[in-house]
Amino acid sequence: MPISREDLFKLALNLQPPWYIASIEFDLEGKRLDIHIDFELGSKFPCPKCGNSECGVHDTIDRTWRHLNFFQFKTYLHCRVPRTKCETCGVKLVKVPWARKGSGFSLLMDSLIVLMAQHMPVKSVADLIGEYDTRIWRVLDHYVLKARSDEDFSEVESVGVDETSRAKGHKYVSVFVDLDKSKVLYVCEGKDASAIESFKEDLEDHNGSNINLRNFCCDMSPAFISGVTRNFPDASITFDKFHVMKLMNQAVDQVRREEQSHNSSLKHTRYIWLKNPEKLTKKQRYELGSLRDMRLKTMRACQRRSKIVQLWRNKTVHLQIRLLLEPITFHTSLEKFLGISPCRFRSFSL
Ligand SMILES: [Zn+2]
Repeated sequence: MPISREDLFKLALNLQPPWYIASIEFDLEGKRLDIHIDFELGSKFPCPKCGNSECGVHDTIDRTWRHLNFFQFKTYLHCRVPRTKCETCGVKLVKVPWARKGSGFSLLMDSLIVLMAQHMPVKSVADLIGEYDTRIWRVLDHYVLKARSDEDFSEVESVGVDETSRAKGHKYVSVFVDLDKSKVLYVCEGKDASAIESFKEDLEDHNGSNINLRNFCCDMSPAFISGVTRNFPDASITFDKFHVMKLMNQAVDQVRREEQSHNSSLKHTRYIWLKNPEKLTKKQRYELGSLRDMRLKTMRACQRRSKIVQLWRNKTVHLQIRLLLEPITFHTSLEKFLGISPCRFRSFSL
């Protein structure tokens, strides 16, 4: 028996009684398909608020939803949505099975938007489906907030935080990551101590606790360090290799600049000191060799940096940072970069 086009679309939309397809309009020139859904006369619906009893239809409200394209044609679902009259709750709009409350998209369209947004910018999603990006953002906001409200951070023990710029200029966001699960936990504006405080509040809102959190990895920004110390007093602070090495290189360079002011043999040697020794060119290795016997402070700073690199190869090493920060020149250079006394660091994990 041939199947009618209404029945075909009813099956495709998985419509169950009392819903049915009343009519379909196909506009070839306008490149759109309009599907009109209705409900059987005399139907009763459960109250959307209390779910109690079968309520009669009080009146209807016309609604439209954008659905998945039918080939290259934009598709819209239309329905006069019934409002029930419950003796307890009053007049309430029935929840339709193909869309969520307040949305202008069908659930399948929502799914497609969320899926696409995971792989491309929101503006590109909007352009592809021919909608304003504000509509796409509203869909994403809904599902992101819903997913976040279901999050459970009770087992989070190790967190890493770093800042990244979110726009031109100095607009930063701080990103917090569960280091055990490699999963983003929280993102907020700013990169100061208040970002850590804001994270703590969010952690606690999701069953997490600052007592469970044992490891905090951050860069050497004094703001992050003071924020972690204040809000997570039981957590050990770990600086990752990238940030430590960046700081070490800055310190070596500062020692070189100071020494160069009274020792001209150091001119034009900046990259010789900063480069990984294994990657020096033949010429650079030769120049470094000729500087080796000059008892340079820069050489000593460089050797200290090499010791730290070696320590990295031993994963079990755990040292107090101040033991690493001698001699004084090197120590004060670091102190200048940090803006606070290194003695305030409780531990330094490699
Ligand atoms: Zn009710």
